[in-house]
Amino acid sequence: MKPSQKSAWNPDRLDARAFAEAQGHLQIETPLARLPRLREEADSGAPSLGDVQWTAAAELRPGASGGAPSPWLRLTAHASLPLTCQRCLGPVDTPLEVDRWFRFVADEATAEAQDDDAEEDLLAMEPRPSLFDVLEDELLMALPLVPLHSTCPVDVVLKAGDPGVPDEEAPPRNPFAALERLKKT
Ligand SMILES: [Zn+2]
Repeated sequence: MKPSQKSAWNPDRLDARAFAEAQGHLQIETPLARLPRLREEADSGAPSLGDVQWTAAAELRPGASGGAPSPWLRLTAHASLPLTCQRCLGPVDTPLEVDRWFRFVADEATAEAQDDDAEEDLLAMEPRPSLFDVLEDELLMALPLVPLHSTCPVDVVLKAGDPGVPDEEAPPRNPFAALERLKKT
């Protein structure tokens, strides 16, 4: 086995094939503030953002039709992001978990062509991907649609129209539907 020239892999421009051939493994702690799209989702009243602990590990797997082995990458991440509770509008620390496999294909065009048929997620090897972008995409997808405290720290006065409050002014069901049924008989 030839000695590796690389002492560290570059997660900003990952050489996916070499990383997979070496069964590479990265364990990184990144400040959430470094991920701008995620930072935008954070509650502005939160005192500070923490870090995301994440790993990337790769391996080669046999190609689908006996072709060249494909690099696969597993990305895991744990983070806690303060989001805005949609009930009391205060910050709610929301755990985010990612654990996903990706298969690398040659380039963007191949990824696009195979995307509909592939069950797994595809990434292009060229241009070399930034794992920070992949990580941020996955964390954004892990965000809950409606962040809520399980119990809000303040008393919230529920108003009609809030989720979970029956709306007394809901209009009666469409009277014409009943008419239509009468016509048919
Ligand atoms: Zn709340």
